Amino acid sequence: MIFQRLADQLADIGRSGLMRRRFARDGAQGPRIVVEGREYLAFCSNDYLGLANHPRIVEAAVDAALRHGVGQGASHLLSGHSVVHERLESTLAQFLEAPRALLFSSGYQANIGAVTALAGAADAVFSDALNHASLIDGVRLSRAQVVRYPHADVDFLSQALASSRGKTKLIVTDGVFSMDGDIAPLPGLLELCERHDALLLVDDAHGFGVIGPEGRGSPAHFGLHSSRLVYVGTLGKAAGVSGAFVAGAPEVVETVLQRARTYVYTTAAPAMLAAAVEVSLELIRKEEWRRERLRKLIGSLKHSLREIELKSSDTPIQPLILGSNAKALGASAMLRERGILVPAIRPPTVPEGTARLRISLSAAHGEPDISRLVTAVRETCRSGAEAHA
Ligand code: PMP
Repeated sequence: MIFQRLADQLADIGRSGLMRRRFARDGAQGPRIVVEGREYLAFCSNDYLGLANHPRIVEAAVDAALRHGVGQGASHLLSGHSVVHERLESTLAQFLEAPRALLFSSGYQANIGAVTALAGAADAVFSDALNHASLIDGVRLSRAQVVRYPHADVDFLSQALASSRGKTKLIVTDGVFSMDGDIAPLPGLLELCERHDALLLVDDAHGFGVIGPEGRGSPAHFGLHSSRLVYVGTLGKAAGVSGAFVAGAPEVVETVLQRARTYVYTTAAPAMLAAAVEVSLELIRKEEWRRERLRKLIGSLKHSLREIELKSSDTPIQPLILGSNAKALGASAMLRERGILVPAIRPPTVPEGTARLRISLSAAHGEPDISRLVTAVRETCRSGAEAHA
């Protein structure tokens, strides 16, 4: 019976320590959140700059809702596209010094859309082993030949490209890796693109707004500029709102617009969100103090937990690898008892045997928050959940 089979599968998930549970937050995202009436200090969002509840951004969304309504009522290619989307695409392109940008409703859709639009059955895609699920799904859907290269291994990739017969060659990588916080070796990857007439798609969900001059992301962090760069930024993390975009050469962006099924066949995101992102972009660009604060907090956390050996990351994503699912779940539960929320990340989100706590910092945190976290993590580690790098 189908229902018995599903129940058995769910029981298996539970026995492997892989059951996922949601909690319902009451109120806005922020460093302190309320769950079931209790306030927690939270290190579990991607609101890196603390913009998710910024009054000016909220106000822009409300104003735009009053003028443009709440629903677009159609896809971009029918009547869903608004002057607000159009303006935001120009602002994003200007900000990134890219010829053109195209908005999507989410990063998941942008990645699937861009990869499948740019690579097909006659092509080859080269994908970092630690890429985000949305890139992996895009690569699968593309039906291109796939080379999954060891994490950040430029030499391996160089050989794979040299022996590839793919017509279009597309390298895909996270800019900042979502569960490890390290930055992809973009200069080396781009050099390979030049040598092999390939494109480099960078999913900078965790880099946009956070690293690089004015928060222009991981390519800008390395001072890179190239028409071979296909840049995917998301707007629901550092930008504090929702949505995503693909930026790059005119031919690339037009191809994505024409061919990405996740663009063509979906209702446009509300214009009020695009209006909110306009203000958010201004704050990202101008308020360097947010990135400065973040850098200080990252430094404090790494310094205070140096005996525990966090994995090496200079971004707000600080993983504490514990190994087994049970250990990661146990550590997360102990922190929660102490009023601190840090999620346990388990396979398949991370490789088998590398379950971890994923600490994510925000410019909205303060030094006392870091001290409280450090004390609690030390106590947790001492009572059994040993960490290793
Ligand atoms: N890429 C990466 C690296 C991500 O971490 C995420 C979200 N967790 C996405 C893409 C998807 O973005 P969105 O949440 O906007 O769908």
